[in-house]
Amino acid sequence: MEHKTLRSLVKQHGTPLFVVDHKELRKNYALFRKHFPRVQVYYAVKVNSDPAIVETFYNEGSSFDVASMQEFHTVHELIAHLPTKQRQDFIWNRIIYANPIKPNETLQELDQYKPLVTFDNHEEVKKIAKHSPHAGLALRLQVPNTGSMVELSSKFGALPGEAVELIAYAHEHKLVVEGISFHVGSQCTNPQNFIQSLHLSASIFAEAKSKGFNLTLLDIGGGFPAAYDDSVPALSSLAKTINSELNRLFPKTIEILAEPGRFLVASAGTAVSKIIGKAIRSGKLCYYIDDGVYHTYSGIIFDHCVYHMKSFKKGATQLCAVFGPTCDALDTISLAEQLPDLELGELLYTDNIGAYSAASSTHFNGFPPAKVVHVNR
Ligand SMILES: *Cc1c(COP(=O)(O)O)cnc(C)c1O
Repeated sequence: MEHKTLRSLVKQHGTPLFVVDHKELRKNYALFRKHFPRVQVYYAVKVNSDPAIVETFYNEGSSFDVASMQEFHTVHELIAHLPTKQRQDFIWNRIIYANPIKPNETLQELDQYKPLVTFDNHEEVKKIAKHSPHAGLALRLQVPNTGSMVELSSKFGALPGEAVELIAYAHEHKLVVEGISFHVGSQCTNPQNFIQSLHLSASIFAEAKSKGFNLTLLDIGGGFPAAYDDSVPALSSLAKTINSELNRLFPKTIEILAEPGRFLVASAGTAVSKIIGKAIRSGKLCYYIDDGVYHTYSGIIFDHCVYHMKSFKKGATQLCAVFGPTCDALDTISLAEQLPDLELGELLYTDNIGAYSAASSTHFNGFPPAKVVHVNR
């Protein structure tokens, strides 16, 4: 975002500020659609669940991946005005409840909407059959997450070897398994993860067919990388690889969906903070700012993401440390940033911080989350 815009927003709203550029959200959505013409987009709401962001993607035609009832209701509120039939169709066709483990209460509440839900084990089949017998199922598969920034296959996913037996088990419980889902790990820069996952899925489709189960849906999950730096491969090259495998392995009649999150929102978020303290410790210049890892920079802890601080002011830089406002030493944004000599009250900012950031802010130590401002809505 332009410096001028950020400065004037700070004048108006103060700091800490989290700015969401909806023009960038629409641009990312359009780019994803362009590169994956065969794939329906299910925005992964957890990545940034701000209702304004969800609404912008809804208006662009997106479907949604939700994993809690609160996320479900954020989407449901957007479609509450639709006539009952259209609303039911939207939930049936365009929402996936992509949490393989669901509390009984959640399943009971979901059943009226006949949603598509994921599962990966026998106990879950028994739960779904009892509490949400009208749900459609997608089997979450464990796939390679090699080299992805955030590993997502140690907690969920059936082994490929047990997939067809689980599909049969669901069938015995009068449930229909519509297809397969997987997640290659977040910020996946290794196309081999996708290639191997597509091969595994195709062989399960074939094995299932030989046992009389006709799978019609393939959910290739998230993991599409945000361009945090020049080393990240462009979406176009990843898409080329994935599309050619999809077309080779899966007939046109198979419905294909993806659950991108980070790719759609990372570049649309900018955090702006103010320097509230300054000290020299062990010869190093230390800045204390009014945002930190319990707030917009939570991704440093939970998302294993490295964020850089930038200054609006040019000039000679030196190696600095940047800390958040709380009393916890964990609240360290960076021990090695190149920044100029700045005065108290001056601003720092971080771009590409739209994903796994503001949405996981806490109120720890009495410091509230950054104010969220939407531009170009
Ligand atoms: C978190 C998550 C996503 C989004 O992943 P990104 O790497 O941000 O694209 C998609 N699907 C599921 C099931 C997830 O848990």
